[in-house]
Amino acid sequence: AQSSAQDAPPSTAAQPLGEPLVELRDVNKHFGDLHVLRDINLTVRRGEVLVVIGPSGSGKSTLCRAINRLETIDSGEILVDGEPLPQEGKALARLRSDVGMVFQSFNLFAHKTILDNVTLGPVKVRREKTKDAKERALALLDRVGVGNQAHKMPAQLSGGQQQRVAIARALAMHPKVMLFDEPTSALDPEMINEVLDVMAALAKEGMTMIVVTHEMGFARRAANRVVFMADGQIVEEAHPEEFFTAPKSERAKDFLSKIL
Ligand code: ADP
Ligand code: MG
Repeated sequence: AQSSAQDAPPSTAAQPLGEPLVELRDVNKHFGDLHVLRDINLTVRRGEVLVVIGPSGSGKSTLCRAINRLETIDSGEILVDGEPLPQEGKALARLRSDVGMVFQSFNLFAHKTILDNVTLGPVKVRREKTKDAKERALALLDRVGVGNQAHKMPAQLSGGQQQRVAIARALAMHPKVMLFDEPTSALDPEMINEVLDVMAALAKEGMTMIVVTHEMGFARRAANRVVFMADGQIVEEAHPEEFFTAPKSERAKDFLSKIL
């Protein structure tokens, strides 16, 4: 049989990754006439850090929202830890804890303290004791570097601090996978790294992550794999180094020439 570079296993195959944790099979999604996700097939394994990159409007946010079932899909299936996404009720609440999400806008509860923001989910959804939830929240806030801000209101914190609280809030639910949708794109430049550093540390600890970002430095340092999306399709998949230095598709080359 003939062999070519295309047949070669991806360089990430060298990394010891676990079993599939998030699987999308032939996923399609329309908004009216707009076909926003086209036959998406994607498997993210336990411990893997996947960076999703692509032009505005290519379907990256819809992809994340579909995994968390904030959007329904028209066809195909999505499995999280081997289970199809639940439709409603308790199972859906459990899915939302399993799949932590951090958005571009920090969307903390504005009228709750930082500590309450992080304890509310564990107490209300996971039925943890308030005392235990507080203890763990404080540890998580420490871990993301805002332990001394616990009793403040969100508006008293910088954007970078608020986004780190949002990460702690998601982690408090003991997620199996974390989704990040452009978590630094609304931040002032000097705050971007403090958030990326927390994410990189999380990646290093083995958290499974799907990260929509154009931060190439983060992708290079933390990602196992980069997926490039355009017009609702996965156009290219590669190891970050390979993707940023030698993109294969014209779409990716064109896109990278604009952001780099
Ligand atoms: P990205 O995150 O890559 O910028 P999105 O997933 O947000 O892309 O959007 C993909 C396409 O779907 C865009 O054309 C966007 O305008 C459209 N879209 C997203 N959400 C909705 C919605 N709720 N209703 C209609 N169109 C939407
Ligand atoms: Mg988006």
